[in-house]
Amino acid sequence: MSRFLVLCLFYSIGLLPLHSDNVLPQLTLRVRAHLMQSVLQPRHQTSLNAAAVSSLFNEVNAIWAPAGIRFQLEAVDAVQALDIVPKRWFERDRNWVKSAIPTQHFSPTAIDVCFVREMGPNGFFYGEPVVVCEAPEFTKVRGGANDPVARVIAHELGHVLFLQHRQDHTNLMASGRDGVFLNAEEIRDARQRALQILEQAPTP
Ligand SMILES: [Zn+2]
Repeated sequence: MSRFLVLCLFYSIGLLPLHSDNVLPQLTLRVRAHLMQSVLQPRHQTSLNAAAVSSLFNEVNAIWAPAGIRFQLEAVDAVQALDIVPKRWFERDRNWVKSAIPTQHFSPTAIDVCFVREMGPNGFFYGEPVVVCEAPEFTKVRGGANDPVARVIAHELGHVLFLQHRQDHTNLMASGRDGVFLNAEEIRDARQRALQILEQAPTP
């Protein structure tokens, strides 16, 4: 048996480690989670607590692991929503929700992620903060996310890293589906943006 065939046999039965060149150095980005509270607007009042958010980020980090990007929760705080007028028919839901979020709790050193109970879109990001609905609706795909809320967080963090929508159904950046796959180009681009964020971030 040739040396090549022996090595192949050892790899196939797990006696030799796979080549480690594909393991990307980990980039860690800080996140601060805000649990929106509101008596006047029940749609803003999240039922999630700190333990639930921490558990969600375990799945978010599993989704982003192939990119070597990890999101570290620096804090989870409860935030009282601003007292705003009920949504008017001509307003976009996301604008109405965003107007109720107080900005003084935002982190100077982390990506801010706010959780609300109900919202038109599953989540959005168009400048800070990321806003996530705790009851998102998806069309399921093969190999999709275990938890739909984790998928929304992971998708919106993709936008934070400048990724655009992609209508490949199993992809993390597809809209309306629960896929979690990131392609090589997205991984490269997201890491590039993550490095920029790390270079620009003030030291906590
Ligand atoms: Zn999106």
